[in-house]
Order: sequence, then structure tokens, then C-alpha cells
Amino acid sequence: MIRFDYARASDVADAVRRGSGAATRFLAGGTNLVDLMKENVERPEHLVDIGRLPLARIEELDGGGLRLGALVTNNQTAYDPRVAARYPLLASAILAGASPQLRNAATNGGNLNQRTRCYYFYDTATACNKREPGSGCGAIGGVTRIHAILGTSEHCIATHPSDMCVALAALEAQVRISGPNGERVVPFADYHRLPGDEPWRDNTLVAGDLVTAIDLPPGDFGRHYTYLKLRDRLSYAFALVSVAVAMRLGADGAIEIVRIALGGVAHKPWRLPEVEGSLQGERPSRPAFSAAAGRLTADAVGRGGNDFKIELARRAVTRALQQAADGTPQSQSDKRVA
Ligand code: SF4
Repeated sequence: MIRFDYARASDVADAVRRGSGAATRFLAGGTNLVDLMKENVERPEHLVDIGRLPLARIEELDGGGLRLGALVTNNQTAYDPRVAARYPLLASAILAGASPQLRNAATNGGNLNQRTRCYYFYDTATACNKREPGSGCGAIGGVTRIHAILGTSEHCIATHPSDMCVALAALEAQVRISGPNGERVVPFADYHRLPGDEPWRDNTLVAGDLVTAIDLPPGDFGRHYTYLKLRDRLSYAFALVSVAVAMRLGADGAIEIVRIALGGVAHKPWRLPEVEGSLQGERPSRPAFSAAAGRLTADAVGRGGNDFKIELARRAVTRALQQAADGTPQSQSDKRVA
């Protein structure tokens, strides 16, 4: 049995103060943390309930963006008319994930901070540097079907499981954080981290840091976008490979801007801006998209069981770029790949 105490934060400052203590976790929707506590993976001594903080609104930002409160649920976000109209890539990615019941409880802040679904992370009978620093990595040399092919280290080959975060990476969102040293804003690309030699650190938060909101900058990706998710079954499964594409075409049909983020392949949503830049000014074409997919995955390394992901990622990127260019985004209700 895990013994812990429980307190409800009265405001953000109170949450930050309480969260700064050792072995403390914030509790919001609980869809991941409570599971991990039941599995004996997370063993907090103090739970700070942030569920009643005033962070459950979606607000307009000056200049045309949107601010998504950290406690807005995933479904409230996906079905918000402003999100659906102006950021359909984000709505699509959210609806590709989990189940309606989970999305009704899971919050935006929690989605960012969910932990890997590596089998060995959940199995306390095995070695895992993320769960128990210095114990080793059970996945290396083990079953690796769901593991990373990019940005790995000798200490961890886990992936980040979120769909929502892949879209947020492509949309270049910003994460607003309140912490012991005040407020700060972190570009999405810098929020999650690669495992390196500290795989237990999923992101750049420190003790007491509380995600309060996610800011979406104004964009023009309402027509040429897609979220393509490939998985072992058509619903309620994490991505083996996913691709978020946000694209803008000029009047002449050439690519003005394209952003490509990959999920299911690394410890964080994977982007290479130099590859995106190489498509700028190009006319949409299969050869150009295929070449970009090759460059995006050029450094990919398999571990046996996940070797297939390298070719799968190349094909998925090519397909997703074509879907975005054609204005035929992947449906999340009819999940057959067009
Ligand atoms: Fe743990 Fe990472 Fe290895 Fe999985 S891949 S067992 S999370 S160290």
C-alpha cells in the first residue's frame, strides 16, 4: 500500500508552494497518475489536488491566438468551436487519442506531462532507468515494438505517448508555467527533452512548477493539415508512428510554410526545421515529400522489434504531406488511411 497525504490547492501560488516539496505530485484528471500509483510505479508522499484552480478556460489572445487553460479537458478542447475552426490539426490529434471517457477526464496540462507507456516502466519487476535511476533499461535487448528510433540514448529508448503534443509541436505552441521563481513561457520544442543520461526527466519542469496554460499562436493551417496516426488497432491504442503536418500554400500552389512533427518515434515530438525549410518554395509532389521523409528519418536506428518503424515513418510522412497538400486531412472517425 502506498501511504500519501492529500491536500487541495486554494490557488496557483498555493499549488506551487505545496508542489515544491519532495515526493509531491499534482493531481488533476488523474488518468495517468492514478494508474501509475496503482501499479506502484509512482509513489508520491503528497498529492496536491489542483482540480479546482481557475485554469479551465479557453481564452482569446491579443493578435489572434488562443490560450488553452491547463485544466480544460481534452474533449472540451477538441470540441471548442474556436479550436475546431482555427486549429483543426489540434482537434484531430486529440480525437485520435484515448477514448471519449478518458478525454472527458484528462486535462491539457496532464496530457503534456503523461509518462511513457514503455512496458518495462510499468513492470516494477524489471530494470528501468526512468522509474529507478541507475537500474538499467529492460527495453534495450528486450521487446521493442513500441520504442523509439530517434533521439535515444544508451540509458532509455522510450517514446512520449501523446497525440495532442505532436500537433502542439507542429503548431509551435508555448507552455505557460508558474514556479517557485515566478512565471515563464517555454516554446513547445523546448518543453519535453530527450532521455540523454537523465531519462527520468521527461521535460524541463522542476519541483513546484505548474503548467497553467498552453498558448496557440495565430496560424493559417485550417485547410492544409493532417494528423495521421498508425497503430496496432484502430482505436484506443498509442501510435506506432504518427505525423502532424501544418502547411500553407501560396497563390501559385507552392509551399510557403510546412511544419512536420512525428509521434511514437522519440522521447518527444520529433521535428527537424531544416527539413521543413527544404520544402519551402517547392511545389507539392510525391518525390519532394518522399525526399523530405527520408531526410527526417535519416538518423533513425531500430532495435530489432521496432525496425519496421523506420520505413513506416518514411511512408507515413510522405502520405501525411500529400494529405495536407491535397486538403484531405485524415478522418478520425473513418480511420482507414486514404
Ligand atoms: Fe525504462 Fe526507458 Fe528503458 Fe523503458 S526504455 S525500460 S522507460 S529506461
